[in-house]
Amino acid sequence: MSWGPFSLEGKRAVVTGGARGIGFGIARRFVEAGADVVIADLDGELAEKKAVSLAGPGEAVGMAADVTDAGSGEAMVARATDAFGSVDILVNNAGIYPQVPMLDMTVDLWDRVQNINLKGLAFVSKAFAAAMVAQGTGGKIVNIASIDGLHPSMVGLAAYDASKGGVVMFTRNLALELGPHNINVNAIAPGGISTEGTAAPLEGSGMTEAEMEAMMQQFTARIPMGRMGDPDDIAKTAVFLASSAADYMTGEIMVVDGGMLLS
Ligand code: NAP
Repeated sequence: MSWGPFSLEGKRAVVTGGARGIGFGIARRFVEAGADVVIADLDGELAEKKAVSLAGPGEAVGMAADVTDAGSGEAMVARATDAFGSVDILVNNAGIYPQVPMLDMTVDLWDRVQNINLKGLAFVSKAFAAAMVAQGTGGKIVNIASIDGLHPSMVGLAAYDASKGGVVMFTRNLALELGPHNINVNAIAPGGISTEGTAAPLEGSGMTEAEMEAMMQQFTARIPMGRMGDPDDIAKTAVFLASSAADYMTGEIMVVDGGMLLS
C-alpha cells in the first residue's frame, strides 16, 4: 500500500499511553504507515506485548514509562534513539478522565489529573523538543487534547476540562516557540471514542451501571453521525499530522468528534 505524502517511512515515533485505546490505535497505524514506534506505557509488560503484536513495515518496541516521572521524557528519547537511531515524532496520548463533580473533588485527584494530562505532557514535550532541536532535522509533536478542552461535554469533568483546555493553549504556544526549528506542534480534539478507558466503570462518579448506560445513550444521541468514535478515527488523523502532508500546519486543534460540537 502506498501512503504517498502520508507515509511515515524512515520516521521514528514515541506514543505515550500506547498500550491501550487510542494510543494503541495510533501505534498500529504508524507502524502500518512505515514508522518505527516506541510504545511507552505505565504497563511496560503490556507495552512490549502489544509492540510484538504489530505487523510492519515499521518496527515496534515497548517500554514502561510514567509521564509524571521527572526524566520520563528523556528516558523515552533514549529508548527511541537506542532502538532506532533518532526521534522524529512524539504523540502525547497518555491521559485520564475520572468523572468526579467538583463538589466531591479532592486536591489529590485534581493534582493527579493535571500532572498526567498537562504537566506530564508539557515536560515530555520539552525533552523531545530538546532532542529534535539537537538533531536539527525538525519533527512533529501531536497532542491528544479533547473536545472538552473547547467546550464542556458533561458534569463531573471540571478537572479534566481544565487540563485539556491547558493542552490546547500549550499546543498553540509551543508551536509558536518551535516553528523556527521546523517542529510542528498540533493537537487532536477527539469526541467520544470507545476505548478500554471509556468502557471501564467510572470510578468515583457515584453512578450505578444503569445510570452510566443511560448517560452513554444520551451522549451518543447528541452525536450527529450517530455513533461513538473508534480509536482508528483518531489514529488516521494522527498519521496525517505526523506526516509530511501536515508540514505547513502548526498550532492547530483538529476536532474529530462525529459533529458532536455542532450539536
Ligand atoms: P485508555 O483506554 O484509558 O488508555 C490510556 C492509556 O494510557 C492506558 O494504557 C494507560 O495505562 C496509559 N496511561 C495512563 N496514565 C499514564 C501515565 N501517567 N503515563 C503513561 N501512560 C499512562 O484511554 P483512551 O480513552 O484511549 O484515551 C487516550 C487519550 O485520549 C487521553 O489523553 C484522553 O484524555 C483522550 N481522549 C479520550 C477520549 C475518549 O472518549 N476515549 C475523548 C477525548 C480525549 P493503564 O491502563 O495501565 O492505566
